[in-house]
Amino acid sequence: MADGTTVIVGAGQAGAHAAVAMRQAGLAGRVVLLGEEPHPPYERPPLSKAVLTEPQEPEPGWFYPPARYAELAIDLRTGQHVTGIEPEAGRVVLANGEHLAFDRLVLATGGRPRTLPVPGGAAALTLRTLEDARALRARLAPGQDVVCIGAGVIGLEVAASAHARGCRVTVIEALPTALGRSAAPEMAAWVVGLHRRAGVTLHFGAAVAEIVPGEVRCAGGLRVKADLVLAGIGIIRNTELAAAAGVAVDNGILVDEAGRTSLPGLFAAGDVAAFRHARLGTVVRLESWRHAQDHGAAVGRAVAGQTVAYDEVPWFWTDQYGRNIQVAGLPAAAVRSVLRGTTEDASFCAFHLDEAGRVVAATGVDAPREVRAAMALIRAGSVVDPARLADPAVKPQALVRAP
Ligand SMILES: Cc1cc2nc3c(=O)[nH]c(=O)nc-3n(C[C@H](O)[C@H](O)[C@H](O)COP(=O)(O)OP(=O)(O)OC[C@H]3O[C@@H](n4cnc5c(N)ncnc54)[C@H](O)[C@@H]3O)c2cc1C
Repeated sequence: MADGTTVIVGAGQAGAHAAVAMRQAGLAGRVVLLGEEPHPPYERPPLSKAVLTEPQEPEPGWFYPPARYAELAIDLRTGQHVTGIEPEAGRVVLANGEHLAFDRLVLATGGRPRTLPVPGGAAALTLRTLEDARALRARLAPGQDVVCIGAGVIGLEVAASAHARGCRVTVIEALPTALGRSAAPEMAAWVVGLHRRAGVTLHFGAAVAEIVPGEVRCAGGLRVKADLVLAGIGIIRNTELAAAAGVAVDNGILVDEAGRTSLPGLFAAGDVAAFRHARLGTVVRLESWRHAQDHGAAVGRAVAGQTVAYDEVPWFWTDQYGRNIQVAGLPAAAVRSVLRGTTEDASFCAFHLDEAGRVVAATGVDAPREVRAAMALIRAGSVVDPARLADPAVKPQALVRAP
């Protein structure tokens, strides 16, 4: 396909995978990968886990060794903040005043942590970048009172990590339950139990009203001692550049199955994108490692001119207290669940079914094979006899093969 210049804004996971995939798909010309962070693209999952808990801070997990970008003639430019896009002129504007012309543009700008809109809220730390994780790591010490605001994945992972560092941990969540819509209610309840058994205190239905030095205060009178506060209350997608350039946005940059935005030659990938998922029949906005990788790569191939119809089954994992929890599909689409094993077992899996009895999601605890099988069932839209789903004697692969 044509050469010219392809610019990618955002050197995170999706941006890196898009850049490499477009080269592997044969895209010629110039490829420029612009990122505002000072590092080459790196893994974020360890930031709430090993980076907080290991005695020695682990090396960042680079997606590719720096030499790989040079090998593929990808011009990786870190520390470059893009301040504007001029689609008609076909150029991006950098904070240093530079203008960079493009023939094709990929927006992979991800998201930034939501901050607490209450008095004193600015005192709460947030976690997205390596620098955020280092700041948090430096302040976790045995005996400290740590308050995590938000019982989503980030809040709960930090709670587990702070607990592992010997802190006294409290989680405050405004909603009545943990993990929002990303987990089925009974599995979210199991995760809450995991924290409580470890000695973490969780308050639900508690809205933070104010943070004062040493204390978090909630509407309704709850007061919690806090040496350190972490706000894990979700992300805001970095859509501003796209919106200002006239790209259609709806809590995410709207893209089709090939990552194309509403403007020709402009694509978006990863956490920042919102798209109608052909298989799931709904608009999805995913924030997960697997999606950032696969969507980035798919959009990279589309930029190189390949035909792409991205419809991977959503999948994410979280590690808490040595348990590996994997969620496939969209549990919110389910009306009932079938449990294989019991929640007391070393490994168990809940299959989540829709009204027609199709497997639409699964949550596995230390059960990767079951979750893999569930993904195949979700992909195929299979209806499986619930008795077979529940029977640990039926091997996961057999669920996929037999009706
Ligand atoms: C602490 C943490 C733990 C996680 N753990 C898990 C996990 O266990 N399992 C899981 O499935 N997922 C996990 N995730 C989610 C996963 O890491 C993200 O979904 C993934 O990183 C998204 O990649 P992305 O490239 O779309 O966005 P990002 O990683 O946000 O990358 C976007 C990049 O664009 C840059 N950028 C934005 N605007 C501009 C601009 N104007 N100019 C230049 N650069 C710009 C940003 O600085 C950033 O580097 C975790 C995330 C975090 C933060």
